[in-house]
Amino acid sequence: MPHAVALLRAARLARSGNPFLAHGGFKRERCEGCRLAPSHCMCALHPSMDTRAGVCLLMSYKEPLKPSNTGWLIADVVADTFAFGWARTETDPALLALLSDPQWQPFVVFPGQYAAPERVVVHAVPPPAPWGEGTGRRPLFILLDGTWAEARKMFGRSPYLDALPVLSLQPDQVSQYQLRRSGRGDHFCTSEVAALCMDLAGEHRTAQTLDAYLSVFTHHYLCAKNQQPVEWEGVAYSRLRAALARPERPGSQLRPPPATDGLPA
Ligand SMILES: [Zn+2]
Repeated sequence: MPHAVALLRAARLARSGNPFLAHGGFKRERCEGCRLAPSHCMCALHPSMDTRAGVCLLMSYKEPLKPSNTGWLIADVVADTFAFGWARTETDPALLALLSDPQWQPFVVFPGQYAAPERVVVHAVPPPAPWGEGTGRRPLFILLDGTWAEARKMFGRSPYLDALPVLSLQPDQVSQYQLRRSGRGDHFCTSEVAALCMDLAGEHRTAQTLDAYLSVFTHHYLCAKNQQPVEWEGVAYSRLRAALARPERPGSQLRPPPATDGLPA
């Protein structure tokens, strides 16, 4: 079953009627699973993780078509990834249903200076509840996937986002992203933002996997572009293997609550 971003991409391509509409890439045969040339396919590395936190991608019209889009990587890794095309004049009813689903606590991930101060939360994501279900709503991170100008438009012209809390990230890392550098040190690609959100939600293993998977994708993408062979034993792969080998939530300081309230010890 193709994931949400793959479905959105297929719908865009069907509507355009032009398989070469994809921007910024090389016009040659692509793998359906990873969008890379078949000689550089990375489908065998595809890690899929069940997480308590979910991701909702709002994508600008062209974003699903870009071969370098990293929302695709999030959908590869995070099982509960939703993706919707954004349009100012119409809203997918499925998006509104998702945002009002009581199992989720949505957060719009966006710089806090663009929102009213009372909406802004910093490091206030509900902690993971590894001891069982029903202990709180699951964080749902809404990521605005497009150029900076498109993301600002989405943020300002989507009334259904106006009542939601805004999660303002304070990244202290420098972007490793090499495909679409913006020249701004604080500009993160979408999958890096998702990794930071997962870390905040206590999903450290998923955060590390997303980061390493981005490195692997970047390596494959650039090798394909420059017609070089993939280095299968390179540092990106060892990072991905290390992330997948670590236990589920070793960094969590949370412990099950006392058994007195009926929960298992
Ligand atoms: Zn592939």
